[in-house]
Amino acid sequence: MAYLKGNLHLHTIFSDGSQTPEEMLTIYHDLGYDFVGFTDHDYLIRPHYWEGIPESNGSLIVFKGLELEYPPLRYQHIGKILGEEETLFVFNHPQQYRLSVAEVNRQIELISRDMPIHCLEVTDKGVYTKVYDIPEIPLPKIASDDAHTPDQCGMAWIEVHSRREKDAILRAIKQGDFKIGLK
Ligand SMILES: [Zn+2]
Repeated sequence: MAYLKGNLHLHTIFSDGSQTPEEMLTIYHDLGYDFVGFTDHDYLIRPHYWEGIPESNGSLIVFKGLELEYPPLRYQHIGKILGEEETLFVFNHPQQYRLSVAEVNRQIELISRDMPIHCLEVTDKGVYTKVYDIPEIPLPKIASDDAHTPDQCGMAWIEVHSRREKDAILRAIKQGDFKIGLK
C-alpha cells in the first residue's frame, strides 16, 4: 500500500473561501495530492453546496464535508468528513481558542456525548502547533491547511497508509496509520 497525501480542511466560495471547488481541486491536483476534503462552514453555507463539489478530479479523491460549529461550546469548530459509509470527525485548531491541554480533553469529552471525535488538528491555518501534539491528548493528530485562498494551499498535510478508496482512507486515519507533513 502506498502513502496517500491529502488535506481534509479547506474552504470555497460556498462559505468564506476565495475560490470555487474546481479551482481548489486544480491547485491540489497540481501540488500532487491524492485526496482533499471540502469543509465549508455550516453556518455560512450557500445553496447548491453539495452538488457544487465535483465527485473527483482525475486521480484526486474528493471528500465532501462541513466544518461544524458546536453550539454548546460556541466557537469550537469540528471537521466532518464524509466517506461512503465512514464519517470522520476532527477537533479543529485548538490554538485559535488558546485552549489548554486540559481544556482540549474536557471539550472532546463533552462533544463526544453528541458525536465521536476521531482526531485532533495540530495545525492552525497550516502552521504547526506543537503544544497539542502530545500523548496527553489521546487521539491521532492530523495536519491540514484550512485553506481559504490559493496561497494557503500546500502548507500542511497528512500521508495516509491506505488503499485509494474513501472509507479505507478514513479508517486508516482513525487508526492513526498516517504521518503528518509540513512545508
Ligand atoms: Zn476551517
